[in-house]
Amino acid sequence: MSTSNTDLLVVGSVAYDTVETPTTTAERILGGSGSFFSVAASYFCNPGVVAVVGDDFDPAHEALLRDAGVDLTGLQHEPGDTFFWHGRYDDNMMSRTSLVTELGVFADFRPHIPDTYIDTPYLFLANIAPELQLAVLEQVRGASFIGLDTMDFWINGNRDALHKALRRVDAVFINDEESELLTGHRNVRKAARDLQAMGPDTVVIKRGEHGAIMFSNQDIFYCPAFPLESVQDPTGAGDSFAGGFMGYLAETRDTRTANLRRAAAVGTVMASFAVEDFSLTGLQAAQRDTIIERFDALRTLTSIDNLAL
Ligand code: AMP
Repeated sequence: MSTSNTDLLVVGSVAYDTVETPTTTAERILGGSGSFFSVAASYFCNPGVVAVVGDDFDPAHEALLRDAGVDLTGLQHEPGDTFFWHGRYDDNMMSRTSLVTELGVFADFRPHIPDTYIDTPYLFLANIAPELQLAVLEQVRGASFIGLDTMDFWINGNRDALHKALRRVDAVFINDEESELLTGHRNVRKAARDLQAMGPDTVVIKRGEHGAIMFSNQDIFYCPAFPLESVQDPTGAGDSFAGGFMGYLAETRDTRTANLRRAAAVGTVMASFAVEDFSLTGLQAAQRDTIIERFDALRTLTSIDNLAL
């Protein structure tokens, strides 16, 4: 039996990012799929992160994650540089270009799942090399619900391994451009049908400010993005969505369709906090009551009475 109280494990990147928006450039700020995911999830459950950092990783950043309630037993330290990513957003912040991806210690990362995590019930394979996602699947045995994220970098480079990983997960989180790249369909319904045929029963296609559409078995659920007056930095929106989604599932231990819909709304709310500031600052500013407030507002703005036309 596991002695850890970690109920959600994420394997992903802990990174330094330089982010350029039309108005601001923020250099070497804390980022990475594992960081955004785990801090978003920490509002609902006890997440643990498995990742690697280099000797340039600031202990203050480790403290920040720990103080947010993230278990760092699985954070490996290796000599070399922490993963570095530099991205630039276009004028309307709808799309971005990856200018630099320096893998650093990530290049030789062999995820090691500590013994205390082997039976963790919820698992998220964040955006990392599909071979590493497969290596994690070999080491865990207790996961009852597994989510996976990926991106163009890995779809283009490691498609076979990605297909193998997809066969073994319950849910995939992907944006519309990536789903087109993977399936050849721009139409989300066709793309989702093909993705479901690749393995996962649940497919969440994220469409930036246009929200997310979830296909789960026969159910289709559309959740608009939470309308914000100001978006500072979209980086980490997808990871925060997944962190809220999976964190809520780990808290409620219910993966039936109605609860998956609630999880998608929670994910939407956590993504809205993440984009209000750079790095993890927006997520850190969230509180249980402001999360509930936004969840309720989202419910109001999407509800239609049940009168027939
Ligand atoms: P998102 O905006 O949700 O897609 O996540 C952005 C985060 O992903 C940034 O903080 C980056 O550090 C991280 N990232 C970017 N490219 C990669 C990659 N190829 N592998 C793993 N993480 C990455």
